[in-house]
Amino acid sequence: MNKKKLKKSITILLPAGLLPAELLTVVYDLAKRYNLGIYLSTAQNIRLLDVKDENEAAIKKALVDAGAELKGPGKFPLPRICVGSQYCQLGMVNTQAFSNRILERFKDRANVKPKFKIAVSACPASCSNPLTTDIGVRAVRNGFEVYAGGKGGPKPKVGRRIAAGVDEEEVLNIIESLVDFHACKTGKKQRLVKLIDDPEFPFVAV
Ligand code: SF4
Repeated sequence: MNKKKLKKSITILLPAGLLPAELLTVVYDLAKRYNLGIYLSTAQNIRLLDVKDENEAAIKKALVDAGAELKGPGKFPLPRICVGSQYCQLGMVNTQAFSNRILERFKDRANVKPKFKIAVSACPASCSNPLTTDIGVRAVRNGFEVYAGGKGGPKPKVGRRIAAGVDEEEVLNIIESLVDFHACKTGKKQRLVKLIDDPEFPFVAV
């Protein structure tokens, strides 16, 4: 089958799914000027659609000048989060603050292989789908649970619980171990689910 030629798009990374008002204005102006679609992705980012080759560099420059971070190979994945304790009665943690803590710790990581995602929820309802994400973290009454190897797609899989009753610092250390393990065991790209039965996988089910 011949590969379809796809239209170009540019993805703006939005930590904690937040779009600063100033950036919103820039996105609006660019969309009007270059006739772009604006797509809200399931990863809580913004994707500008229908980018013409001749406009790509100018659009990217305007976005970067406005402080936007653009998606690119090797970047550490932004956690997908639920709205958290500030906006939901059931929430037990501030997911924005936790997401920022994760990014602060791992933002300088380079060469992160594709197909590696993180999700955080502030209660067991799991609105950000942590159980079907490579690394899923959810708050429960006695701390956090961490799941590894979940995935969505055509054959969804619930991750394996590898920690329970841990605090934020311990969650960060667990993420670090998983990221290191993923990096050393992965050539180009790999879902964590393919690695959790490796004899050297650093955690057991709890
Ligand atoms: S996971 Fe819990 S805290 Fe987060 S939005 Fe859903 S119900 Fe609210």
